[in-house]
Amino acid sequence: MADDGRLPDPINDHSQWWDLAACRGMLTTLFFHPERQRGPARRRREAEAKAVCHRCPVITQCRRYALVVQEPYGIWGGLSAEERKDQLRASREAPSVPRPGARQFAGP
Ligand code: SF4
Repeated sequence: MADDGRLPDPINDHSQWWDLAACRGMLTTLFFHPERQRGPARRRREAEAKAVCHRCPVITQCRRYALVVQEPYGIWGGLSAEERKDQLRASREAPSVPRPGARQFAGP
């Protein structure tokens, strides 16, 4: 279950971008795999869902939402659940880069 409590207010208010979603009114079974779907059928369904996402005007907002709430299932923002987990893992493991203008700790 995704946790909406992680969302800062502008993302939490999906009404700002959800109205423009290319998937509105489409069957959710395209974006969420049916029970026990594996192999070529699953890959084909995911490719079709991602094709919808890649022509969606709010793909950036949707992907950000799914990453922030750590949405555990389905295709969101053109990414599968596994791809989102990989992105989150990579962002946790990446060395932090100081923000421009941030003061550096110079030591004692
Ligand atoms: S990016 Fe994909 S899942 Fe997200 S709103 Fe658009 S079509 Fe729907």
